[in-house]
Amino acid sequence: MGALHVRRAGWLSAQQLGMYLLEEARAAGVRLLRGRVVKIAHSQNGDGRRVRAVHLENGERIPVERLVLAAGPFLRPLAAQLGLDLPVVAERHLKLAFDDRLGALPREAPLLIWADPQELDWTPEERALLDETETGLPLSGVLPSGAHTRPEGRGGSRMAVALWEYDTPEMSPVFPVPGDDLYPEVVLRGLERMLPAMRAYRTRLPRPIVDGGYYVKTPENRPLIGPLPVAGAYVLGALSGYGIMASQGAADLLAAHLTGKPLPPYAAAFHPDRYRDPAYRRKLASWREEWQL
Ligand SMILES: Cc1cc2nc3c(=O)[nH]c(=O)nc-3n(C[C@H](O)[C@H](O)[C@H](O)COP(=O)(O)OP(=O)(O)OC[C@H]3O[C@@H](n4cnc5c(N)ncnc54)[C@H](O)[C@@H]3O)c2cc1C
Repeated sequence: MGALHVRRAGWLSAQQLGMYLLEEARAAGVRLLRGRVVKIAHSQNGDGRRVRAVHLENGERIPVERLVLAAGPFLRPLAAQLGLDLPVVAERHLKLAFDDRLGALPREAPLLIWADPQELDWTPEERALLDETETGLPLSGVLPSGAHTRPEGRGGSRMAVALWEYDTPEMSPVFPVPGDDLYPEVVLRGLERMLPAMRAYRTRLPRPIVDGGYYVKTPENRPLIGPLPVAGAYVLGALSGYGIMASQGAADLLAAHLTGKPLPPYAAAFHPDRYRDPAYRRKLASWREEWQL
């Protein structure tokens, strides 16, 4: 067995990062308006199309000169308002939080990832039951790599979070995210090989809290950052499963596009226009392997 220990790694609270950024933005004069955009008005004239305004659900119309589409899972329908068909899909991803009452995960553990595919150790009775379920998933066969977990919370917290992307259907995003009744049990079983103490939960599962969202992905799983072919419109999206980690760099790149600052050498790799380049499309066709958490 091989193990890789990544040093100087860790995790952060996405919610707290968001709050910090919001406070900094407000201090710099940004005003936050809340509302759901239901329509984007644009005009057509001699030099092409240009964004004009956004219409909110409450009937308000806000004139805009620049508009950044950063609607996460709803990027595609919003871009369609501008007549654009962005090459993105939304994949459902779930996440489990549970009270690790038996202490199966040491509190000092780092983020632990099982990087091999694996077959779960179901009893013959369980196997028979699984074969009868209508999930359409071969849960009794070989499942993909990537079961992972980490402790959550400080002090006396016993909470743990765990994820395993053994089933990530592409779908039109809806909230609340449609669940998977077997997810908690399958994930905990998937952790057993790495953390044998998890086996103790077979007799009584911890009460699961399952939530999730969508990975919005381009064909090559790189984000879309930059101007769109409608003047004044920009995109920052398709951040897949790394959008928290990539958020600061992605925002810097978008800011350079917006302010006309010199672009970094990697800007072209994320430009929404890249698919128009035949050489890039050829490269894309030759990329196959992917590995994601
Ligand atoms: C289960 C799971 C685990 C993940 N784990 C990690 C991780 O460990 N590390 C990591 O880096 N990333 C992780 N990600 C990915 C990360 O959450 C996303 O990449 C990131 O949130 C995408 O950011 P975004 O701003 O593009 O979209 P979002 O965070 O979805 O934000 C989009 C915003 O647009 C708003 N919006 C949408 N439509 C409209 C509209 N019509 N009008 C007004 N507002 C609108 C939404 O309300 C929302 O606030 C995970 C994702 C999932 C689902």
